[in-house]
Amino acid sequence: MYWEPEKECLDREDLEQLQLERLQSTLNRVYEHVPFYRKKFDAMGISPEDVGSLADLARLPFTTKADLRENYPYGLFAVPMREVVRIHASSGTTGAATVVGYTRNDIRTWSNLVARVLTAGGVTKDDVVQIAFGYGLFTGAFGLHYGAERVGASVIPASSGNTARQIQIMKDFKTTAIVSTPSYALLMADTLREMGIPVSALSLRYGLFGAEPWSDAMRKEIEGKLGIVATDNYGLSEVLGPGVSGECLERQGLHIHEDHFLVEVVDPETLRPVAPGEAGELVITTLTKEAFPMIRYRTRDLTRLLPGTCRCGRTGLRMGRVSGRTDDMLIIKGVNVFPSQIEHILFEFEGTEPHYQIVVDRKGAMDEVTVMVEAAESIFFDQMRRQKEMVEKIQKRLAQELGIAVDVRLVERKTLGRSEGKAKRVVDRRKL
Ligand SMILES: [Zn+2]
Repeated sequence: MYWEPEKECLDREDLEQLQLERLQSTLNRVYEHVPFYRKKFDAMGISPEDVGSLADLARLPFTTKADLRENYPYGLFAVPMREVVRIHASSGTTGAATVVGYTRNDIRTWSNLVARVLTAGGVTKDDVVQIAFGYGLFTGAFGLHYGAERVGASVIPASSGNTARQIQIMKDFKTTAIVSTPSYALLMADTLREMGIPVSALSLRYGLFGAEPWSDAMRKEIEGKLGIVATDNYGLSEVLGPGVSGECLERQGLHIHEDHFLVEVVDPETLRPVAPGEAGELVITTLTKEAFPMIRYRTRDLTRLLPGTCRCGRTGLRMGRVSGRTDDMLIIKGVNVFPSQIEHILFEFEGTEPHYQIVVDRKGAMDEVTVMVEAAESIFFDQMRRQKEMVEKIQKRLAQELGIAVDVRLVERKTLGRSEGKAKRVVDRRKL
């Protein structure tokens, strides 16, 4: 099932021709209307006319989050404010907020691209879609909302929070598709159980999750607990919001909407392209954005491009699940560690709950890592010996996989904080 088959299944040659035309027009617009880009291009001695092929993209400068902050709030807008119909901002968890704008056309494009994601994830106009993302400056809720309306589904703007009410709505309104972060989906699943409502009392069929990295093991957990087929989708406010890419029901990677975005994967240290199929930092150039075009934006998200074609017939390149952000990468005793690696291992163990937190501390000159993981009641109230065995097994696996020694502590269910939005997986006390 496709939303725009003529675009999602475009053959490579036609696609590349379209990409080049759109790239050239984007470069002309930013050079003309955004002094930041003009200055950068001039300094490098490049003019938009020099870009005659897609390979020339590599000659252009990168744009970073710091550039967005320095041009706060509207410095990178390429249209006058009277043409801007919407403003969103990122929360600024790692610094000042970044502000993005949309023209009426941008909103239309956005709705269409999210409609592609939803359609690929199984949603049709017969579905009742519950949006459990927080409505506000964050792009997640509005993007999915408009996409679902575009598809013709019945949209429930439940927003995030008030989980018991969320579940009541899900049951009474016969929600068939749920949209949220994966960690909130798990919280809803646990609350469902506590409320004594069986999954069979719900009408849920599909879940579309995004806005944070999650593992395949977590997907299985959510699917099992909610009785749904879960797909992953990806986007970030700096280049659009949700709608950049999404999985089809084959679930073999996320199809990138290449007619709207040019993607590269580079080594975050050297900024050179990685070998095909290797992991690195995703870099995105927008091809159709009017209000807020981005040239070679460094997303800080780590992924890889997948080789081959998908059985669904879409021709767009696929990216692997985002394994983490360069920001999230912990350097512990000189070793690079991603929370997703730890999550993946925790899921191997029967008796642990999928809620965990990684605490990093420094004792003297040494980094110390403690993984706190919630244990199922059966384990927790069991004999000390069994708990101890489990801790040792997990520690052994983590040491094997990460190459460093890590402490593991089992804690009672619901000891760790729950999030209704993006989960907080890491507490780095070294920075406090
Ligand atoms: Zn596919």
